[in-house]
Amino acid sequence: MFDNLSTKLDQAFKTLKGQGRITEINVANTVKEIRKALLDADVNYNIAKSITNEIKDEALGKDVLIAVKPGELFIKIVYDKLVSLMGGELAEFTPTGSPAVVLISGLQGSGKTTFSAKLANRLKAQGKQALLVACDIYRPAAIDQLHTLGEQIGVDVFSERENKDAISIAQKGIQYAKANGKSIVIIDTAGRLAVDEQMMQEISAVKQAVQPSETLFVVDSMTGQDAVNTAKTFNERLDFDGVVLTKLDGDTRGGAALSIKTVVNKPIKFISTGEKPDTLDVFHPDRMAKRILGMGDVVSLVEKAQQAFDEEEAKRLNKKLRKNQFDLNDLLSQIQHIKKMGNLKDLMGMIPGMGKMLKNVDVDDDAFKPVEAIISSMTPTERENPDIINNSRKRRIATGSGTSVQQVNNLLKQFQEMKRTMKKINTMQGMGGLPGFGK
Ligand code: GDP
Repeated sequence: MFDNLSTKLDQAFKTLKGQGRITEINVANTVKEIRKALLDADVNYNIAKSITNEIKDEALGKDVLIAVKPGELFIKIVYDKLVSLMGGELAEFTPTGSPAVVLISGLQGSGKTTFSAKLANRLKAQGKQALLVACDIYRPAAIDQLHTLGEQIGVDVFSERENKDAISIAQKGIQYAKANGKSIVIIDTAGRLAVDEQMMQEISAVKQAVQPSETLFVVDSMTGQDAVNTAKTFNERLDFDGVVLTKLDGDTRGGAALSIKTVVNKPIKFISTGEKPDTLDVFHPDRMAKRILGMGDVVSLVEKAQQAFDEEEAKRLNKKLRKNQFDLNDLLSQIQHIKKMGNLKDLMGMIPGMGKMLKNVDVDDDAFKPVEAIISSMTPTERENPDIINNSRKRRIATGSGTSVQQVNNLLKQFQEMKRTMKKINTMQGMGGLPGFGK
């Protein structure tokens, strides 16, 4: 996710590395690089220009504390800007009503149907009785798809194949929900490949008729500025409540995530990162900013861990990460757990410093094999304190794990880098930065 943007921002910050203080000249260079990185990520030109101007003014207006290097101060300023660009606060999703009605809109292929099922799955996990309603009156395949997904996740689907009136299907769906004790109704609507007047009229009419508590607009993040333009058009007609960004597991450049809030002034509420039912996350602007800046997203990682394993283990990991006591034992156990959790590259990107390490790596289960083998060949003391691993130990570990000394060295180097990044984040936290981290 956003690999290119992360790399380019990292390069921009490097222009400040080793510089003792912030000056007009070094700030101008860095800001230019940041603007280029944002434009390359397909961020709207005006947005990129205005936020980089703000970054520049802020950096020049700041006295550099003795304890903080210009590079670190800059990262903090950019971090704050990214967070506010993406909406600042977490936007709640709390539909009300009995049943609560949620209307799902978006273009065909954006991931509406998949998202509808994921949302139902999530609500079901929270103990809610959800009903999915198939309102696509043009494509029977869309109705079949929703039924298949509903079966997979164990959620009822309401449809009327012969009925060609979307409003009537939606209304009957709500009646069905009332009669069957459902507390929340998710209405999946028809989309077109491009914005079209008939589609807009139809979905506006459905909205008018069912008065949803939440209208969500689903958009494919891979489409960059098009996503932003489509959002604008839908918002003008529908006045939706929130955005769902899909396909963030792909090679997304990030432009949509960074521009949508400013353009439509509606928050991103969910992000979808895969085709499986459990690949849905609530959108946290602060966590996303940390990931873009290569600071990892320990909080999301810990939450995923909590879903996948027991709470005690997750708490222990969170504590160790915060105290910077994360050792190779933890890395090994995390790798073993992570392998069970889904998109490996994205998950690993949540660990501070790991995103950078993995940017050119095609991560699959096999990618971890040498790492697992190397750590498994270490003694418990070596895993807790890798500093004691001298050359003869390295040779023994390489032979034991069927790898080379070079691979052992690489792993140790990467692990050190992870720890350094962790330390940096903890230091910034100490200066009152990075709100919400590790709480
Ligand atoms: P709809 O036409 O808007 O209802 O779109 P669908 O829900 O049918 O999704 C279109 C395609 O995108 C399907 O092949 C989905 O499996 C896929 N898809 C949806 N969301 C995601 C996502 O977050 N990641 C990936 N990789 N694929 C997705």
